[in-house]
Amino acid sequence: MTASPQATIPCPFCLTVNKVGLDPSGVRPACGECGRPLPVDRPIKVTDQDMEATIRGSDVPVVVDFYADWCQPCRMMAPMLDQLASDLHGELLVAKLDTDSNPTMAVKYGIRGIPTLIVFKDGQEWKRHTGVLPPDRLAELLEIEVEVEE
Ligand SMILES: [Zn+2]
Repeated sequence: MTASPQATIPCPFCLTVNKVGLDPSGVRPACGECGRPLPVDRPIKVTDQDMEATIRGSDVPVVVDFYADWCQPCRMMAPMLDQLASDLHGELLVAKLDTDSNPTMAVKYGIRGIPTLIVFKDGQEWKRHTGVLPPDRLAELLEIEVEVEE
């Protein structure tokens, strides 16, 4: 038995940053502040204020999608990231940062085009890709096996 990995997640409802265990059985941990379930199986919105707490405070790799609402290719990526978060919930976190509302992180991480995916491991940048990725290339980037559903 190994302890379940910990993750740091801003609550989408009350914005409190929570440190929670990821339950591989799929139970969503409750927010310590408002008690609502934290959707760890979906992409989580992060901001200039909490993105670094999320990447540093999580035992699992964190995939951050740097996107903007007006960006058409970003919209193409969204269902893939939803699928990834759901398939690999408990093994990695998927986070989304709106680069228009959060310029500090976009500048700090040198985002020059969107969508850019950065994969963080142990709080450090591990891999990066700019542009749309088909699901098999996304799996390759993450070095994981993913069943691609047609
Ligand atoms: Zn909350």
